[in-house]
Amino acid sequence: MADSAQAGSIFAGASDYDVAVAGASLAGCTTAILLAKAGARVALVEQRPDANAFKRICTHYIQSSAVPTLERMGLLERMMQAGAVRGRARLWTRWGWIDPPARSTVPSGVNLRREKLDPMIRQLAAETPGVDLILGHTVQELVREGGTVCGLKARNSQGETLTLRARLVVGADGRDSRVAKLAEVSTKTVRHGRFAYGGYFEGPPPVTAPDPALWLLDPHMAAAFPTDSGLIFYAVMPTKDRLPEFRADPEAALKAFVSAVPEAPPILASRLFGEVTGKIDMTNVIHKPTAPGLALTGDAAGALDPLWGVGCGFAFQSSEWLADSVAPALTGAESLEQGLERYRRRHARGLRGHTMTILDYSSGRKLNPGERMLFSAATYDERTARVFEAFGSRNIGPVRMLATGVPLAVVAQARHSISRRRDNRSSRAGLESA
Ligand SMILES: Cc1cc2nc3c(=O)[nH]c(=O)nc-3n(C[C@H](O)[C@H](O)[C@H](O)COP(=O)(O)OP(=O)(O)OC[C@H]3O[C@@H](n4cnc5c(N)ncnc54)[C@H](O)[C@@H]3O)c2cc1C
Repeated sequence: MADSAQAGSIFAGASDYDVAVAGASLAGCTTAILLAKAGARVALVEQRPDANAFKRICTHYIQSSAVPTLERMGLLERMMQAGAVRGRARLWTRWGWIDPPARSTVPSGVNLRREKLDPMIRQLAAETPGVDLILGHTVQELVREGGTVCGLKARNSQGETLTLRARLVVGADGRDSRVAKLAEVSTKTVRHGRFAYGGYFEGPPPVTAPDPALWLLDPHMAAAFPTDSGLIFYAVMPTKDRLPEFRADPEAALKAFVSAVPEAPPILASRLFGEVTGKIDMTNVIHKPTAPGLALTGDAAGALDPLWGVGCGFAFQSSEWLADSVAPALTGAESLEQGLERYRRRHARGLRGHTMTILDYSSGRKLNPGERMLFSAATYDERTARVFEAFGSRNIGPVRMLATGVPLAVVAQARHSISRRRDNRSSRAGLESA
């Protein structure tokens, strides 16, 4: 690991790397680890000087779709040793609970506080041969030759500038990506109609533990995420009209909101651990993930509504797609343009459908009739619940979910209403004969 003082001596002047990554959080570290394992020499540049720094506003639920990536990096084992909690989401709806199906076809998700996860993955990156972790340097400029990005310039707190030349520059610098702005890639922003508040609590576990529980209050959302060290993260995402009460007293508003949900978890019998934090502007930001000599990954490529808990998983997965897409180019087997084009297509195939559905619901709207039918059928029909879980955990996309889930839900709903009609008829007959 190179700290800011060392960096001046080790990397004085221009340096040659295969890849220079801006941002050493989930996406940046994953990219660096997997590319270095594929034989690349990687500079991993992080603005924060502390190797133990972590993202403070994040509910940390990692969807099951990202579990194979965690396993591939050898990270899952470390997470479990640090007390991570595995679970399958349970969803309260006004039609009943959608419980994890008995015959689940997907792995369970993972909960570990970012306070533990971020230093752990950064350590794993620093230990990976081929990765130089350079802390305390903020990427300020891109180096270009013609129209192609071929390096970056980063500055430390002493005002020293480090110039790194690299065949590929990766922006893994989060939702406000400076790299994306510098590269002038096309950008789309979509308004968000909700806000988020949450905090860790010590106390009795919810009856749904170790599974995370979500209350789909339509249009509001509340959730309880059991995590390491016996803590529960209670979170809410109401529509913006509820903001004044949270601004006035976040802790009181969080407790009042969570304790009022149906079959409420025991937040009132619990003690706040740390502070209640919130995010009011959650505008969705989507960037084109490639430009000549450059790729964006994680939130830098797409910072989406956190309501569905997908950002961390997508950061791991998109970085894996990037590493696998450009590795052949970095070993000279093909051109970098081919590798970047493969990544652009892989990113679109993996995330475009999810992105469209997530953007649509982030307005703060209520469920539409199609969604109401699917959600209600999943409460009583095991086969619909299985499709629902595969989609909610991001193991299948919306096209497959609609193609398989909708017919199942229609049949389940028809059967359900026939059996309800039969029950009503026989109970009326029972009453008449009594
Ligand atoms: C309220 C809320 C709740 C959430 N809950 C969940 C959840 O339950 N599950 C889930 O999966 N996701 C959740 N997310 C989303 C998740 O936090 C992000 O998607 C995830 O952190 C993205 O990881 P990343 O590595 O792309 O970016 P980040 O984690 O944001 O990391 C970016 C890194 O780049 C560094 N950096 C920035 N600029 C520069 C620069 N110029 N030079 C050098 N370094 C730089 C930063 O210091 C940081 O280390 C939530 C988000 C919010 C706001």
